Amino acid sequence: MNPLGVFGGTFDPIHYGHLRTAFEMLQALRFFEVRFIPCGDPPHRGKTYATAKQRFEMTRAALAGQPGFVVDDRELSRDGPSYSIDTLHSLREEIPERPMALILGMDAFLGLPKWHRWLDILKVAHIVVAHRPGWRAPDIGPLGELLSRCGTHRIDDLHELTHGRIHIHAVTQLEISSTEIRELIEAGRDPRFLTPDPVREFIATSRCYGALDERFL
Ligand code: ATP
Repeated sequence: MNPLGVFGGTFDPIHYGHLRTAFEMLQALRFFEVRFIPCGDPPHRGKTYATAKQRFEMTRAALAGQPGFVVDDRELSRDGPSYSIDTLHSLREEIPERPMALILGMDAFLGLPKWHRWLDILKVAHIVVAHRPGWRAPDIGPLGELLSRCGTHRIDDLHELTHGRIHIHAVTQLEISSTEIRELIEAGRDPRFLTPDPVREFIATSRCYGALDERFL
C-alpha cells in the first residue's frame, strides 16, 4: 500500500526547499500523499516569528491546487508542545493499516535523539531522510546504530511494512532556509523565487515578519 508522507516543520515561512523535497519524495517513493503539518508549539526551537495560525495560512497558500499535497492543522488545535510522536499516533488511529513515513531533512534527523520518545517513532512510522546540502549521514553513535539496524535502500520496504525502516533519499539540493528568508525581509529585500508567490503575498499583507519595502506590494 502506498505510504502517507508526513512532513512536519515550523514552516516560518514555507519555501521551495520544503516543497521540492516533498514533491520529489511524493514521486520517487510513490507516496499516497504528503501531509504538511505545521508545528503548533515547537518544543526544540523556542519562539517562532509568525504565529501558528499565520504559518498554517502560509502553508495552505503554498499548497493550494497542488495534487498530492495536503495541509493538516492537528498540531495547532492541540495544547502543549507539539511532539511528533503524538502527531503520528493520532494519524495512526485514522489510518491503522497504511504505511506512514515521517519526512526529515538531514539536519532534523541528526537532532532526532533529543526528541521526545524518539525511539518510539519507528514503532509507528518509517523515517525518510532528505539529503540536505552540507550534512552527512551518521555512521557512529545512536543514530549510526539505528541506521545499521533499520536502514534500507529498498523503496518497496516502505510499502510492504507499515513502519520501522529508515530510508535516506537524495533530493535536488536547494539551499534555502526560512531563516534566510526572514533575514532578507528584515534587510528590506524581496524573497521572490524562494517561496511561492501566494506565500510572498501573505507575508507582504500580514507583515508577519515586519514591515516590508513597498516594492513588494
Ligand atoms: P529555519 O531556517 O527557521 O531553521 P528551515 O528552513 O530549516 O527553518 P523548518 O520548517 O525548520 O525549515 O524545516 C522543516 C523540515 O524541512 C526539516 O525536516 C528540515 O530539515 C527540512 N528542510 C528545511 N529546509 C530544507 C531544504 N532547503 N531542503 C530540504 N529539506 C529542508
